[in-house]
Amino acid sequence: MTATAFTPRIFSGIQPSGGLTLGNYLGALKRFAEKQDEGIQTIYCLVDLHAITVWQDPERLRQQTREAAAGFMASGIDPARSILFNQSQVSAHAELGWILNCVARLGWMNRMTQFKDKAGKNAEHVSLGLYAYPSLMAADILVYHATHVPVGDDQKQHVELTRDIAAKFNHDYGVDFFPAPEPVIEGAATRVMSLRDGTKKMSKSDPSDASRINLTDDADTIAQKIRKARTDAEPLPDTLEGLKDRPEARNLVNIYAALSGMTAEAVVTEFAGQGFGTFKPALADLAVAKLSPISLEMTRLMADPAEIDRILGEGADRAEAIARPILDRTLDIVGMVRSRRG
Ligand code: ATP
Ligand code: MG
Repeated sequence: MTATAFTPRIFSGIQPSGGLTLGNYLGALKRFAEKQDEGIQTIYCLVDLHAITVWQDPERLRQQTREAAAGFMASGIDPARSILFNQSQVSAHAELGWILNCVARLGWMNRMTQFKDKAGKNAEHVSLGLYAYPSLMAADILVYHATHVPVGDDQKQHVELTRDIAAKFNHDYGVDFFPAPEPVIEGAATRVMSLRDGTKKMSKSDPSDASRINLTDDADTIAQKIRKARTDAEPLPDTLEGLKDRPEARNLVNIYAALSGMTAEAVVTEFAGQGFGTFKPALADLAVAKLSPISLEMTRLMADPAEIDRILGEGADRAEAIARPILDRTLDIVGMVRSRRG
């Protein structure tokens, strides 16, 4: 079955596993905000249950969740037009996650590259939750019958797995219950790379702060990180083709394009023949101009954490109202006795 049989609905989430980065902004937040204008319901979640798949200090996690909520709002996500909440306040996610653990196959999970990247050589010592992460993510999406999932390129595999889990559930139980959600991966910077290593994704959990730009970095820090970003010694070429084997240069061009709203082609045309001595300061100015208002607004919102908690609580109530009936129907389908229902 295709997603078109269901009312379109957008869901996506971000882990409060650290401070939000430029990668999160360009690959996710900026696009989450744009999606609010498409006439489709938008549900955005701080996936705190995902964050604890690796160790999180409890007080820091609480702080990071509130800060991430401030980052969402400062990036243009309006809690009046979108549902904004943290995952753990809607227990239907975890409950459906368990059922989907019983649908997903070990062979499917073994193919997930995020687990391999995050577990590294340490796979015997990471949590079971890190391994099961993709089936909880499938539950996050399917518990709203979401049809579209805006994500960065790195999450494509998880959304595809969600489709496989939905299809197997529908097939095993002989129902047309879950939609096949589509990953929506668009824009000039669907995979922002580390500033220190053009082959690694920029991540909020990277141990090196110099590898990323945080949405809370001040103007000097942003400029300094861009100045120190790893590059090669060549000037910029006049076509994108010329950046094929230059991942660091390509990354900075993509960032410039995504921040300015230009295509990557237009950026190389504008800077053709220029060295990084010219391009990096231009990129730093652009990044500061686009990110400073966000970081200022985050600071303002963070001054009132009770208001952030109130917004998340209200969002959780609205999310629960959609998720609970879908979970109840799922429990019926799989054969659970439901005698306490009124
Ligand atoms: P972590 O290191 O803890 O996994 P993260 O920076 O990868 O953090 P996530 O919470 O895993 O962030 O991902 C949130 C969203 O941001 C997802 O849609 C993901 O695809 C997107 N995203 C994360 N990193 C990047 C990046 N470097 N470029 C583009 N999009 C990204
Ligand atoms: Mg990630």
